[in-house]
Amino acid sequence: MISNKKVCILYTGGTIGMVSTEHGYAPKKDYLSVLLNEIHQLQSPTLPKWDIVEFDPLLDSSNIALEQWNAIGKVIADRYNDYDGFVVLHGTDTMAYSASALSFMLEGLNKPIVFTGAQIPLCELRSDGRDNLINSIVIAGEGQVCEVCIYFGGKLLRGNRSTKVSSDELRAFGSPDHPPLAEVGIDIHYDEKAMSLPSRPKYFQLTEFKPVPIGVLKIIPGLQFELFESMINSNLKAVVLEAFGSGNIPSNNKALVEGIRKLADNDTIILVTSQCQRGGTTLGTYATSSELARSGAISASDMTIEAAIAKLYYLFSCGYSSERVKLLMATNLRGEMNE
Ligand code: ASP
Repeated sequence: MISNKKVCILYTGGTIGMVSTEHGYAPKKDYLSVLLNEIHQLQSPTLPKWDIVEFDPLLDSSNIALEQWNAIGKVIADRYNDYDGFVVLHGTDTMAYSASALSFMLEGLNKPIVFTGAQIPLCELRSDGRDNLINSIVIAGEGQVCEVCIYFGGKLLRGNRSTKVSSDELRAFGSPDHPPLAEVGIDIHYDEKAMSLPSRPKYFQLTEFKPVPIGVLKIIPGLQFELFESMINSNLKAVVLEAFGSGNIPSNNKALVEGIRKLADNDTIILVTSQCQRGGTTLGTYATSSELARSGAISASDMTIEAAIAKLYYLFSCGYSSERVKLLMATNLRGEMNE
């Protein structure tokens, strides 16, 4: 059947359009469009019509930061009413961060925003890019999911629940604490229950991110917190602590416990995530997390670290007070957590 849908592809960079250079793989300006024109399935009348917006410069996603998130948001907002859906071609390394960020920046979505890319460049024989791109265009045109998601290696995942789980497998992404939104085989099977979202505002709105100072500290056995003490007086708005298990820290580590207290006294939000992929954090389950709870630290529940960081950027960019940010961190805004 001929498709009457229209999809806009935003090409930000990433392996999909890279070529091999003397320094390793890197994106090449104006090259991807040439490759796409050679893929005859992309001209099929049964596929939604597509246009492509190429970013300048094209980036390895390791170089993507707030400026590019805001640019992606603006390109989508400017064209929001002209297309049935959007596909964002992006490197895999930070795709889960960007998809999480965009899920908060774009409020009131009533069409799909599908991030995808490739583990093998499109110019190489065994590239996974062709398949990822074609399925993403189909999903973006179908309009069944009204949120920011990642399509990769046969699975459609909620963007703010996703994480890159493999640097060399073609199924590079997982969403360990949330089922896939769709499984893609011969047919595309959407899972209505997995797709359910907290009630959303009626109107589409873009909130650009501001450069909020946020720190991340991974707890390790034998952590010498004395060496990180400058964090305490550095005006960080929030510190994400990657704790053990359900949110535990070495509570016999005096420098760390004292440091956490001082951070809290300075009005720095301490958000506790887990080093485990599934299950999240519940402060106070063990005595080793009770000090965190006493200091006013808050639990990230089952949010991924990517979603937790994106949500902090979002809430502070909205101009909310620390108290309000704390409250909203515990509220499910875009399907990013189980409350
Ligand atoms: N380094 C690349 C990037 O993130 C990896 C990829 O796209 O798969 O841009």
